[in-house]
Amino acid sequence: MNLLDKIIDTFDGEIMIDNQWRVDGSNGKKYTVKWDKFHRNYSCECLGYIYRRRCRHITQISDSFKKQYGVKK
Ligand SMILES: [Zn+2]
Repeated sequence: MNLLDKIIDTFDGEIMIDNQWRVDGSNGKKYTVKWDKFHRNYSCECLGYIYRRRCRHITQISDSFKKQYGVKK
């Protein structure tokens, strides 16, 4: 299974374009999390990310990758 297949499998069709995912937020909103392959970091469109440069949407994406690959913190 290649990386893209794994991503599609993990997010069950939620993937829209390469390196970009929709994550369910609170109050029924959906946020877009992007992986910047040049800067090698995630970004999110929610206020939490804008103010703190991190948020639980990004955590949710990165945690599911860690689980997928068995990477321990
Ligand atoms: Zn977010």
